[in-house]
Amino acid sequence: MSDSGNIEGGCRCGAVRYRAEGGALWVSHCHCNECRRSSGAPVSTFVGVGSEGFAFVTGAPGAYESSPEVVRRFCGACGTPLTYEAAVYPGEVHIMVGTLDAPEGLVPERHVFDGERMPWLAMADDLPRHDTLPQGIPRVPLS
Ligand SMILES: [Zn+2]
Ligand SMILES: [Zn+2]
Repeated sequence: MSDSGNIEGGCRCGAVRYRAEGGALWVSHCHCNECRRSSGAPVSTFVGVGSEGFAFVTGAPGAYESSPEVVRRFCGACGTPLTYEAAVYPGEVHIMVGTLDAPEGLVPERHVFDGERMPWLAMADDLPRHDTLPQGIPRVPLS
């Protein structure tokens, strides 16, 4: 996060940059098959932010509908996956934490879709694990 508390980041090559004002709503590890295929990595860690405070400030990402009413954005030049938006999460943008300038400051709170986790991926933490997506994820802003 920047000195102002905003979340900033961008793609590998720097062509696309974003800023999210208002801070993080939540941070989760997602083990679902869709994220795995989309990211190329066995687990995808996301931070949720409010869409009203989110903007791409440099460049324009590519986008595709990865499933009905789900849009994933990426850098068209270097291919870095950047964000996820879905109709079932109105008002939220989910940012790939690995693209943040300072990802170490956002600590994951839970695993979702743990039922789809790779059996060889052991993550030794005490975080709550949900087989799918829990209903009513607490939307408490992180401090
Ligand atoms: Zn790029
Ligand atoms: Zn997922």
